[in-house]
Amino acid sequence: MRLSQTLDLDGTSIVCGHCGHGLCDKDVNWKEKAILNETPMRTLGDPYSTDEQVLLRVFSCPNCGALLDTETAMKDDPFLHDKIFT
Ligand SMILES: [Zn+2]
Repeated sequence: MRLSQTLDLDGTSIVCGHCGHGLCDKDVNWKEKAILNETPMRTLGDPYSTDEQVLLRVFSCPNCGALLDTETAMKDDPFLHDKIFT
């Protein structure tokens, strides 16, 4: 079952929509199991924030490297937890 453009549900597991790699159980924040790269937004040039604390987070599949999601956040903020189940 397709959860988003990048994630699928296989039984009770959230899996990469590209390669099918299991990330975690559906009750876990899958972002904690993905590869995380954080880049200060200021390094991306104008018109982005010049505050060193504002980050672009890029989440990728640990098996195939496919881009799974991105978010902007303040340094040390917890990951945004998308509620994809009701
Ligand atoms: Zn993958």
